Amino acid sequence: MSKKAVVMVLALIFCYTNIAFSGELSKEKFYINSQISYSVIDSNLIENSIIKKVRKSSNIKDWCEIGNKVIISHDKERVPSVNGMKSVFINPKMSRPFLAIRKGAESHLEPYINHINILYTEGPYTVFQATFPVLEQLNSQKNNHFYLEPIKGKMEVLLNPSKTRGFEKVKLNNLDVSETRLANYIKKLESFKTRYTYAEGFVQSAEWTRDEFKSMGLDAKLVEYNDYSKNQYNIVAQKNLGKYDGKFYIVCGHIDSTSEKNKIHAPGADDNGSGSAAVLEAALLLSKLPNSEKIRFVLFGGEEVGLKGSKAYVKQLEKSGELKNVLGVVNLDMIGFDKKGQISGLIETKRFSDDFINNFKTVSDKIGKLELSTSYNPWGSDHVPFLNKNIPCFLFIETEYGANPNYHRTTDTFKYVNMELVTGITRVVVETLATLIK
Ligand SMILES: [Zn+2]
Repeated sequence: MSKKAVVMVLALIFCYTNIAFSGELSKEKFYINSQISYSVIDSNLIENSIIKKVRKSSNIKDWCEIGNKVIISHDKERVPSVNGMKSVFINPKMSRPFLAIRKGAESHLEPYINHINILYTEGPYTVFQATFPVLEQLNSQKNNHFYLEPIKGKMEVLLNPSKTRGFEKVKLNNLDVSETRLANYIKKLESFKTRYTYAEGFVQSAEWTRDEFKSMGLDAKLVEYNDYSKNQYNIVAQKNLGKYDGKFYIVCGHIDSTSEKNKIHAPGADDNGSGSAAVLEAALLLSKLPNSEKIRFVLFGGEEVGLKGSKAYVKQLEKSGELKNVLGVVNLDMIGFDKKGQISGLIETKRFSDDFINNFKTVSDKIGKLELSTSYNPWGSDHVPFLNKNIPCFLFIETEYGANPNYHRTTDTFKYVNMELVTGITRVVVETLATLIK
């Protein structure tokens, strides 16, 4: 290496550490404003129109909606008068309130419970304040199963399903999503022992799914990407792949898995055998339709180690000029855990994808069964790189993902998968896409 190169590398390292240091967690940004107080509104107790009014009122600074609760910040001196509104205790010595979301039942906040002040908690969502060092530690744990963000602006974290949905239970396109086939796909994926992205089992499962796509009459291949000099793969399948140059939809999910013993044993039945099975089932049924070349099926590698497969793939699409042909993307990740009540799914996206998503909501309403909630706070899975490029996209995920005790464990096996949910979500995706490509 030349002297010049050494200087450049050092400059780069300096730049990088500097960015990392002066990044989001500057102290000034995270101290609480003493002129502001916080309140929680129970949206069960008041009409929607009043909530809308409150949100627009000039002394409301930020608000964050999670299920039935709306957390608002307002001037201490000008407290809005709303029925059922309660002020919450704010510790002046701690940070401004933050939202934490996690996948799996294990709590990241628990070890710090004496150094945080919880304002509100509901399932995987917690709004809390913390001392600055604790916040820093928590912030350093951020990854695709733990998400942390300051309460700021307009945050639509969990919008509950509308209560006026119908249950027509109609059959739309005569496509028979098979629960048995979906179950067999999940069991097959589990049989590779581990699909950890750097393990041999990953390559075997990738080759198996590629051949499975081919047996459906699709063109399929392993598309390489580079991960720190290691070759990694995404599996891509489509009719006339490489020849068709029109616009298309993408149905995707990640096929890699992880656990506390990821190199030797990571069954990943729910995460993400369930979503991968749905992609395979969708391919099988949709490939028979006229215009089926309008749908590309992708199984990503490297999701569990930082969305590496999807990030690389979006870059490849951008480079080849294909990204502008992508009409919309459905990412299926963890669609098989449901313990409470009626089966339920969560759509996670950004507002600009509303038109695309409404197609799926309409079909879901017609089919019935599934209770659908929406979040405009996307994080932690392969939909994020697409949304960052303003491609209409959403994540379809089990609503109860924050309660799954088997998340990222060797116990994430088929016997705990709720096949009714896997089948229900797959049906919505297949029926909607069949309608969209007509
Ligand atoms: Zn996953």
